[in-house]
Amino acid sequence: MVRKDGYDVIVVGGGPAGCAVALAFGRNGAEVLVLEAGPGPARAFAGEWLHPAGAAALARWGVELPEDAHARGTGFVIYPHDRSAPIELPYPGAGTALGFEHRVLVGAMRARLSAEPGVTLRTGSRVTAVRDDLVRYVDYATGQTIDARGRLIVGAEGRPSVVRRALELPDDDRRLGHAAGLLIDHVSLPFEGRGHVVLGGPGPILLYRVAPETVRVVLDVPRHRHGRSLDPLWPEYCDRLPADLRSPVLRALRDGDLRWASVGVRRRCSHGRGSMVLVGDAAGYVHPLTAVGLTLALTDAETLARTHDLEEYRRDRAARTRVPELLGVSLYEILSQRDPVSDAVSVSVYHLWRTSPTERERMMGFLGTENTSTPRFVATFTRCLLLAARRLAVAAASGQRGAPAAIGSGLRWMRWLVRGTALGRTCGTTPADPR
Ligand SMILES: Cc1cc2nc3c(=O)[nH]c(=O)nc-3n(C[C@H](O)[C@H](O)[C@H](O)COP(=O)(O)OP(=O)(O)OC[C@H]3O[C@@H](n4cnc5c(N)ncnc54)[C@H](O)[C@@H]3O)c2cc1C
Repeated sequence: MVRKDGYDVIVVGGGPAGCAVALAFGRNGAEVLVLEAGPGPARAFAGEWLHPAGAAALARWGVELPEDAHARGTGFVIYPHDRSAPIELPYPGAGTALGFEHRVLVGAMRARLSAEPGVTLRTGSRVTAVRDDLVRYVDYATGQTIDARGRLIVGAEGRPSVVRRALELPDDDRRLGHAAGLLIDHVSLPFEGRGHVVLGGPGPILLYRVAPETVRVVLDVPRHRHGRSLDPLWPEYCDRLPADLRSPVLRALRDGDLRWASVGVRRRCSHGRGSMVLVGDAAGYVHPLTAVGLTLALTDAETLARTHDLEEYRRDRAARTRVPELLGVSLYEILSQRDPVSDAVSVSVYHLWRTSPTERERMMGFLGTENTSTPRFVATFTRCLLLAARRLAVAAASGQRGAPAAIGSGLRWMRWLVRGTALGRTCGTTPADPR
């Protein structure tokens, strides 16, 4: 056992959130130790689209992505489930997003860390226990167990979090399914610069550029459709894909490197206690459909380094992450489920986006984490529910079956919204969750 004393900050995890914390504190002159379990470059299939607020944070820290390994994004385009015309949702103002492979982002952030004199990054170092100011880790290269002390311990180790366990927080995540990722080269996207969200298949399909010549395809596979092979689902996805992309995606499915990741949701119930705090996915996460995890991770880090009082950090994040979280849960539920209520709400959402520039702009503000106003979110959401209720009432009046079940499901949505916003309840993950 080796003992090392005296860091200002010990960060558990050297992913996007951990690197961001180290950069933000390192710039303030703090002595920071980052402990990363992985022995080498990051390999996970994870976040690859960074909203403008996150891209601006990277620029402030001087993190530069290689020119040939990233692309710029100007917003989204939605392909509705009812096959109506695509809807473009540009970011307001001049903000641009970034697209890259996950390993490229983490590689660039770690490279930037090495230029911070106060920051030490130890890879191949898995943290096994945390207690008060003490962090115990195993150094894989030597096999030694080492204890280090820090005034602040930051849990940035993603979903299975040791710091979370030390804080005795519940592991109350809900698995939603899997994401299958493919890369295709030398293709054009129908709306270059936009992240494409294609609805109506077994799960949403996401398409976005990660390099000048390369497009990422993400097939969302809901839990009840997940098997060992994508073959049985392919005709349904294929039917939804823009026609020019079908052959390249099929070729990549057969010959390419198919990557899998599990997806789920865990609401942020706590941002820590005493000298232990949580950032990024260790605090909570939503389905990747809204591509918000990375931006939240980076803004968590900036806020933590800026606030001198941990209580202020916790209050700030509890308030500012509620809307992105509620949006992440509700958009996934509404846009990916196919039942009468989800269909009616989806069509109402499309209608608002098509007809109201204000709602389009508001939506992109919520999505990009720049508009975190809960009352505004509630107003927009309620408007969609009322439009959907009118649609359902017309359907019921014309004798369509399923109206009572639809009303029950609509009421569950209202209850979820009230609990998640007005009552400030943070647990209970989705409208279907009885907690
Ligand atoms: C398929 C998929 C697609 C996604 N797409 C997007 C997207 O486009 N945009 C977006 O914003 N978000 C996206 N996300 C979410 C995004 O990937 C996460 O929000 C983000 O990676 C969180 O960063 P993090 O640093 O908190 O956690 P992680 O990325 O999980 O990093 C945690 C790090 O801690 C290390 N670690 C774990 N345990 C220990 C330990 N005991 N000791 C030491 N180190 C440890 C891990 O090795 C890892 O390096 C996606 C997620 C998935 C699964």
